[in-house]
Amino acid sequence: MSVVPPDWFAQTDDGGTGCYVHLPFCDRICPYCDFAVVRLRHAQVPRYLRALHDEIEAPYDDGPERIQTLYFGGGTPSALASGDLEWLAATIFARFRTAAGSIEFTLEANPSRGIEAFSRYRRMGVNRLSVGVQSFHDDELRRLGRDHDAAGAVVFVRAARAAGFDNLSLDLMAGVPGQTLQSFGRSLRRALELGVDHISVYGLTIEAGTPYAAWNAREPQAFADDDAQASMLALADDLLTEAGMQHYEISNFTRPGFACAHNIGYWRQRDCRAFGLSAAGYENGLRYANVRDLHAYCDAMEQRRTPRAFEERLPAAARVGEAAMLALRTSHGLRVLEFERRFGIDARSAFLAAIEKSKAAGLLEEAGGAIRLSRKGRLLANEACALFLDPELSIAR
Ligand code: SF4
Repeated sequence: MSVVPPDWFAQTDDGGTGCYVHLPFCDRICPYCDFAVVRLRHAQVPRYLRALHDEIEAPYDDGPERIQTLYFGGGTPSALASGDLEWLAATIFARFRTAAGSIEFTLEANPSRGIEAFSRYRRMGVNRLSVGVQSFHDDELRRLGRDHDAAGAVVFVRAARAAGFDNLSLDLMAGVPGQTLQSFGRSLRRALELGVDHISVYGLTIEAGTPYAAWNAREPQAFADDDAQASMLALADDLLTEAGMQHYEISNFTRPGFACAHNIGYWRQRDCRAFGLSAAGYENGLRYANVRDLHAYCDAMEQRRTPRAFEERLPAAARVGEAAMLALRTSHGLRVLEFERRFGIDARSAFLAAIEKSKAAGLLEEAGGAIRLSRKGRLLANEACALFLDPELSIAR
């Protein structure tokens, strides 16, 4: 009889705190990427890890508290030596008095890296791997500048299963240059055949200043237009839900019981402590983000200065608006009773204009005390959610 892994989401609560650690190193920089990344140079790693350690160990007024999810993202965390990751994880667990293995611990991994370290990842408490596959077609992977091929991704996912990871997620991308609806469908089916527990599907966005932005300016016809990308995302919805996965957030699908507790924390506006360059956290209404530059971050920690680039205490209206926008991203939607309990407001009145406008455009539906995005609304999510950012509140702003 197979052992059912814990449903980490069921074990988390809105009063808990997540923890995000940013590991920015990548073997090479993909031409579409706009994350805070640096090309891996081994000489830089010890300095960054020391700075991270100092930030994690910095004293907080309210003393240590437990964390209920941990996420190592990047960058490519699996580009680092497993011993370094183990040391970092131990630092976090000691700092927050949390036992390894007692919480959801996600590590982002690229198929080109980390396969030899699976057993060590498991020993240090990683129980969820998120694998950046993007496509199961070699020509698309080449255009994305990825350093793995489709066969390598299959080997990686199978090896992760064999090593005992019973909570596996992979990322796929819609709108890759040269991708067709058919080739995207084949990538989705390949992911299903591999039996992963969770699939994230992101539409390619062209970020200013990247090599892709220059390519797009030269040759816009090489890129999928909005309609083509929307067709791909609709296909993902059809294929993955027909296969029994739950479409629980705009870009995320899960087998029952494998929703990502850490990311649900963001969408439920739970607190999250964040460490590392560019890391963005949210604690009791205070939003902050660290500087994006590696040297600026390390300099700040070495000179005992704050690494934060900005801090912002959200006014009540902004907090409620953001909560609505985040709730709408999820399949639970905006629950009227929950907003009354959390914020003491009648969501239908506070968001009256947004609700009426979205409903008239076919972007929203309402049932069972919850306001949710319709299928059309999920495809136009940014447009629909943005309407909710500025509620009419009679409570103090
Ligand atoms: S591997 Fe991921 S984080 Fe690194 S450059 Fe490519 S897209 Fe960006």
